Amino acid sequence: MTATRVLVLNSGSSSVKYQLLDMADGSKLAMGLVERIGEAASRCVHTLLTPGGSTREQSGHIADHSAALKAVAAELDADGLGLDSPELAAIGHRVVHGGLRFTAPTVVDDTVLQEIERLVPVAPLHNPANIIGIRTARELRPDLPQVAVFDTAFHTTMPEYAARYAIDVATADAHRIRRYGFHGTSHAYVSRRTAALLGRTPEEVNVIVLHLGNGASASAVAGGVCVDTSMGLTPLEGLVMGTRSGDIDPAVIFHLTRVAGMSIDEIDALLNKNSGLVGLCGDNDMREIVRRTEEGDERAELAFDIYVQRLKKYIGAYTAVLGRVDAVAFTAGVGENSAPVRAAAAAGLEGLGLTVDAGLNAVRSDKARLISPEGSRVAVAVVPTDEEREIAQQVYALVND
Ligand code: ADP
Repeated sequence: MTATRVLVLNSGSSSVKYQLLDMADGSKLAMGLVERIGEAASRCVHTLLTPGGSTREQSGHIADHSAALKAVAAELDADGLGLDSPELAAIGHRVVHGGLRFTAPTVVDDTVLQEIERLVPVAPLHNPANIIGIRTARELRPDLPQVAVFDTAFHTTMPEYAARYAIDVATADAHRIRRYGFHGTSHAYVSRRTAALLGRTPEEVNVIVLHLGNGASASAVAGGVCVDTSMGLTPLEGLVMGTRSGDIDPAVIFHLTRVAGMSIDEIDALLNKNSGLVGLCGDNDMREIVRRTEEGDERAELAFDIYVQRLKKYIGAYTAVLGRVDAVAFTAGVGENSAPVRAAAAAGLEGLGLTVDAGLNAVRSDKARLISPEGSRVAVAVVPTDEEREIAQQVYALVND
């Protein structure tokens, strides 16, 4: 029997999300998540996606990631899709930070694990959980290829002048300070999918991808290759996000230290957790913010306008970086669902060739689609992202190489 299935694991600090795909036909067989790991009431939701499938939900204490993965294995087993199945070809792991070392999906061995560990100082919130996920999966299936797919990999093609900060070179190099970018798997998938939507190959088109989730980033993709992106050393830089400030004058940090007496950890929490939309208006859910603006709530209106202003600046900047733009693609929670954000981001950019058709923009759909009028100089697209499918494809291609 040929092994054609890939299990994709996304291990966060207190959760594990998973999907099982069959690459023979690209179908999704099962998906689920274990959340609140380590708390008294952890929750496990598992959905069998094959015809007649259903969702099971359980709660109870799940002590750690090892117990969480065992719970995932038991759920899959109950549906006859267990980890010991000969049809399972590999396990793919989302790893947030691959530094400069990892430019492509990589089969994990001890050396690779050590390298991912060496990157913990630049990704202290993410890489430790990713490492635990890989270790536990290796214990469960030591004979199976475990493949790491890095969020940073797609951005490693950025030219040096886009990746370097204008600071002292020796200091930057000593501490590996440069722009790495994140959400790379999504930017790769969405830019390729956008090309397909235009009936072109990725090599033929220049695309600006706007990944607008709770975390948000923009990228400039020229002929399938990333040439610039808005996140930097960490996911804090760039667009206004749910709880992160995005771009800010670094002198704000000196000022808060000297004048407000805040510690570095307090400022870190301020900029990462209590800023962005939540800092501006108390809500980070775009649905709620739009609802409040409709009621004339001024704080929500200002938060919305600041969010949109930053988006426009990046669309303009990346139009200049790319020279010629064939498409702007909106993706992730806000990008896929918020017609008001898409309309406001494109408003006034007709000079750059961008127009959104109000009727097309208002249609709700989970399919990739164009929302610009036919014949527009720049196509505007809504493209649902699918990071799990992209990871599974990359993993399957690598193990069958
Ligand atoms: P992440 O993976 O970064 O946690 P998602 O891509 O799932 O985030 O996006 C989550 C965000 O998407 C929510 O915080 C909310 O602001 C936004 N969102 C989700 N659904 C809608 C909707 N129907 N309309 C507007 N915004 C939405």
